[in-house]
Amino acid sequence: MLLKNCQLLLTQDANRRIIGNADVLIEGSTIKKVGRGLKAGRGADTIDCAGKIVMPGLVNTHTHLGMHSLRGAKDDAELFDWLKGIEATEKKFTAKQVKENTIAGLKEAVRFGTTTVYDSYKFPEERLGAFEKMGVRGVLSSTVTDEKTFRASENFLNSLKKRHGIVKGAVAANAVYSCSKEILRKVIEYSDANRLLRRIHIGETRKDRFDTLQRHGRLAVEYLDSIGFLAENCLLVHCIWITKGEIRKIAMAGAMVSHNPVSNMKLASGGVMPLTEMLDEKVCVGLGTDSVASNNNLDLFEEMKIAALLHRHHKWDANAVTAQQVLDMATIDGAKCLGIGNVGSIAEGNFADIITLSLDENLLPVNDIVSNIVFAAQGMNVNDVVIDGKAVLRDRSFVH
Ligand SMILES: [Zn+2]
Repeated sequence: MLLKNCQLLLTQDANRRIIGNADVLIEGSTIKKVGRGLKAGRGADTIDCAGKIVMPGLVNTHTHLGMHSLRGAKDDAELFDWLKGIEATEKKFTAKQVKENTIAGLKEAVRFGTTTVYDSYKFPEERLGAFEKMGVRGVLSSTVTDEKTFRASENFLNSLKKRHGIVKGAVAANAVYSCSKEILRKVIEYSDANRLLRRIHIGETRKDRFDTLQRHGRLAVEYLDSIGFLAENCLLVHCIWITKGEIRKIAMAGAMVSHNPVSNMKLASGGVMPLTEMLDEKVCVGLGTDSVASNNNLDLFEEMKIAALLHRHHKWDANAVTAQQVLDMATIDGAKCLGIGNVGSIAEGNFADIITLSLDENLLPVNDIVSNIVFAAQGMNVNDVVIDGKAVLRDRSFVH
């Protein structure tokens, strides 16, 4: 496949190069060459990218696509009331419903330019089927809270080992407040033995923070550190209610963080996730939308803008976080958070996960392309989506 005449190619490579009138040659599932005047072999698929911005597909480090039918179902509640409000409906979800929800979620994510999704929920086999059907790169887990759900996760991950598709497995502990120490130890053991990512929700609310302190006599990150949960293959989701000392522990362990500003603000989690403090400590931070039941969409362009605004406003500092830093979180750093080093940038040898944006009215003029992407673009500007070297969306229509 050849992406021809890209008006502006935003590579997100090591030098953050932006190249005008560039071509991207794709062979199989990988990027073969980036340059000018490139030619594809006879009969190769060509996408004309004149008048388009071409950039890496976005990486969503945290969502629950299985909840897609719950958009707007419980809007005006804080986390624990919200959970109670939707749990009754979730309990009735069949495997078929979860698969349908996942397909609907993937369609929305792809339409908005997301090419890699970390997704955790129940019925992993059906969700895997949805990812394979839609051709979307995924990191999938079956959420663990107790022995029974741990076994379901283990069975799924064992069966996934025999497949070599674009979906990787991960082990997801739900939260410190919902998992015993024994279960967390099993999650550590299984993820280490199988070299998989492990993730957990922490510090989402003030209640969560004080409950952990009361129950374990330690702050959440200190507690996780004391049992060996923190490591380079560990992704911590939310991290709003944590201290500077905890951030240093995360940094020392090389653990990573998924930031979900829209969901946090919608659920009125209070406080602000200490992003600038994390970046100062060189913690790798990615962006996540969380589910449409708490966001209420899967648009990472919107998430980038709101992340930038939140931290600038909170710090009274227009330079608290730059557009480039936020774009990195949605691409290259998000990919690192998921342990997939070879997506999130357009560089030779990387997987070909690439999107194009039309230069619609809201993206003109282009004084600063990175600024336009973070502060002006919306998911609906996405025109084409290529994942693993295959076109999934073309001219805003799904290929299959
Ligand atoms: Zn979550």
